[in-house]
Amino acid sequence: MANHRSDCSLWTRRDFIHVGLGAAAAVALGARAHAGRPRDAAATGSVAGLNDLARRMHGRFLRRGSPGYDDARKVWNLAYDRHPLAMARCADIDDVRRCVAFARRHSVPVAIRGGGHSYAGFGVADDALQVDLGAFTTVSVDRDRRVASVGGGVKIRNLLTATLAAGLVTPMGSCGAVGVAGLALAGGDTSGRGLFGTACDNIVGAQLVTADGEVLELRSHQNEDLFWAIRGGGGNFGVVTRLDFRLYPVLTSHNAQFDLGWSGIGGAMRIFGDLVRETPDEVRAKFEVSAQTGASASCGFFGDPAAAAAYLETWKAAFRRVEAKMSTSLPNPEGEVWATTSVAVEGAFLEGVSDGAADVLARAAVAGRGFGEILMGLSSGVAARVGMTDTAYPLRGTGLSTLLSSEWTRPEDRARAERWVAEYGDALRPFARRAYVNYIPPSPPERIREIYGVNYPRLAKIKARYDPANLFRSNQNILPEVRT
Ligand SMILES: Cc1cc2nc3c(=O)[nH]c(=O)nc-3n(C[C@H](O)[C@H](O)[C@H](O)COP(=O)(O)OP(=O)(O)OC[C@H]3O[C@@H](n4cnc5c(N)ncnc54)[C@H](O)[C@@H]3O)c2cc1C
Repeated sequence: MANHRSDCSLWTRRDFIHVGLGAAAAVALGARAHAGRPRDAAATGSVAGLNDLARRMHGRFLRRGSPGYDDARKVWNLAYDRHPLAMARCADIDDVRRCVAFARRHSVPVAIRGGGHSYAGFGVADDALQVDLGAFTTVSVDRDRRVASVGGGVKIRNLLTATLAAGLVTPMGSCGAVGVAGLALAGGDTSGRGLFGTACDNIVGAQLVTADGEVLELRSHQNEDLFWAIRGGGGNFGVVTRLDFRLYPVLTSHNAQFDLGWSGIGGAMRIFGDLVRETPDEVRAKFEVSAQTGASASCGFFGDPAAAAAYLETWKAAFRRVEAKMSTSLPNPEGEVWATTSVAVEGAFLEGVSDGAADVLARAAVAGRGFGEILMGLSSGVAARVGMTDTAYPLRGTGLSTLLSSEWTRPEDRARAERWVAEYGDALRPFARRAYVNYIPPSPPERIREIYGVNYPRLAKIKARYDPANLFRSNQNILPEVRT
């Protein structure tokens, strides 16, 4: 349905031969990122290093001044208009290692691009070297072991198409164009997490290129610290070139949707909050406010139709003022694809719908009518019961992962969108210290520390061990622990 961006086909190997004034200027800018080293020496070293890197790359390489640079640096969220030093479409793991070696040697930050769908635009960064994994598209499914292995640039639609062909599935997000790694490394707001845990809970192995250029295999008894950290800690620890996911049988979801419109949104939210306080693991649920059509609540029950019908009666009784729209569904690899846009977001992980939170969200809905969207997704069951310190992902316990978003097409509407998400995001903070890191704008260290809570000190230690210079900082950044 959507007109989302396709991968850039404008890159040619010839591009990397071109070294213009633009590139030299960009290198000088990149050198500014390195404190305490004479700028000219760094710049000279970087220019030579960049040429060398360009020559040695197996994949394509673009830098400022190259044809196609301006198109290639665009990410899904057009609000982020960033100018990287260069963009390397890595063809293989050696390319990734070359890029990391260049970045380390010249103190140039790395921006990792997987599926390009970061709300915060992290796949591209000013003056950074972009490591683009768009060519890491392999998906292989081992039906007997019930494991799918995917390259670091695979999108949800490609993963699910392959697993569904084997009659299997793993919890993933709702948009087929989103990158699997970008989603799963940060945790995952996924369907089916009540029964199977969320995306990061189903990572059983990974391959990662560290800031030192080492290629490490991660699993429960191999490089355990990193294996723990990447399950929730995002792209902070290196370039993930492969992820292995546990697979499950496909279940039908029996659904009821209640279109509630614009009246009594706060009350409807409280009813929703009561319904989801305790649910069977088979349940998935969300409450949405569309900018155009107002509120709706929906519930799905995976598996047995009779158990589903009995359970959904409680929802019908609770929302009896509107007629339920009933349906069944199976996992859909394409999902709901959003066209490339400009959008501002804020997030909050609510432990329930308190009167205060319902009041804030109801006011947000009314104030944002026509331009603001609210999404609250239930996280429960297995995903909620995983221990807080078992993985780095901090959103444990039953909760509602809440996303405020506001898109604009005309530049003059940007301020309104940003104001709305900021105002109501702030107003929600007293009810939710935590938030899903993929649903918030680029955030300061103190917010990231607060979100990871009890897991932050261990994350900071692991960061200090594997990325002491913080090369991987185009993300919700975990600062390397400062040793005293
Ligand atoms: C339309 C849309 C729908 C969405 N729906 C959902 C949803 O249903 N559930 C959900 O949980 N989230 C959802 N999200 C949020 C999504 O999980 C994040 O935006 C995520 O960052 C996208 O990953 P990406 O690889 O596409 O992004 P990119 O911009 O390519 O990457 C973002 C960052 O992720 C990290 N990263 C990505 N790949 C790698 C890698 N291979 N190795 C190391 N680090 C890596 C890096 O830090 C990178 O900078 C949605 C986003 C959009 C735009």
